[in-house]
Amino acid sequence: MKHLYLTLIALTLSSTILTAKAAEPTTTQAQKQVAGYYQYQAGDIQITALLDGTNFMSPSLFKDIQQQQVHEILKKYYADQDKGVQTSINAFLVNTGKSLVLVDSGAASCFGAHLGSVLTNLKASGYQPEQVDTILLTHLHPDHVCGISKDGKANFPNATVYVSSDEANYWLDPKQATKLPKDKQAGYEGTVKHIKQAIAPYQAKQRFKTYKLGDDIQGFKVINTAGHTPGHFSYELKSKGESIVFIGDIVHSHTVQFDRPETAIEYDIDPKKAVETRLKQFANFAKNGQTIAAPHLPFPGIGHIYSADGKSYQWIPIHFKD
Ligand SMILES: [Zn+2]
Repeated sequence: MKHLYLTLIALTLSSTILTAKAAEPTTTQAQKQVAGYYQYQAGDIQITALLDGTNFMSPSLFKDIQQQQVHEILKKYYADQDKGVQTSINAFLVNTGKSLVLVDSGAASCFGAHLGSVLTNLKASGYQPEQVDTILLTHLHPDHVCGISKDGKANFPNATVYVSSDEANYWLDPKQATKLPKDKQAGYEGTVKHIKQAIAPYQAKQRFKTYKLGDDIQGFKVINTAGHTPGHFSYELKSKGESIVFIGDIVHSHTVQFDRPETAIEYDIDPKKAVETRLKQFANFAKNGQTIAAPHLPFPGIGHIYSADGKSYQWIPIHFKD
């Protein structure tokens, strides 16, 4: 009996050692993370942040600031600068109880294979694309519009797409290109091509619509935040005393543009106006404490904006809750 007992112990020990050996990591390569969605409850409204992917920007894209200062700010925030300045691309699925609204849609395949996960993450979060009835676009840049379609087919077959009339006019007016400086025309034409492909299946079904200031869509108030693009808009939704603002691209960096909010970025079509808009909105958010949902702040991109001195700001992300 004693012998059998010892044998059992020996077997158990050896199998433990074997298991330990098998579990030993054979590689230090980064593992795939869990699905990129995060649910946040605001009053009666459920917001699901959907990650499209991680992007890296060149620090030289920041304007009106010395490169040395950019690097100092990034260092202060422990922002890894090896591959450039890390940003997220996020979209937001909003269940209002009456409507299922997608705010922005990610880049799909417009910017490369490292992006384009909005649809996969939407399904992983328990929803189906057919359930989405409304799509609100903050503007028509490819990392916001491309995700609505694939190969000429609508990814959200039952949805109506909304964008401001100012934005639609800027990108869809055939005469616009000739009004631009020569060096901007090729970039503009490339963007227009992506936009047209993305919206075509919705236009074919009369499901591409525009709005103007003062309009209300499914309970969302539209806010003019032009500058980054000529018809850039943000959206505000209220529930049980909480106000959530889907800000769009009034900010691209939780480090440099919070520390130095007067810093424009190369992507801004009107950099001066983009800075004015950010300064105005940040002051408002810091004073009134709205909940912010942002497409380019670290995933899930939901949080608050704080200022100690009214000049520089801090991004306060929401606390992960299971
Ligand atoms: Zn963007």
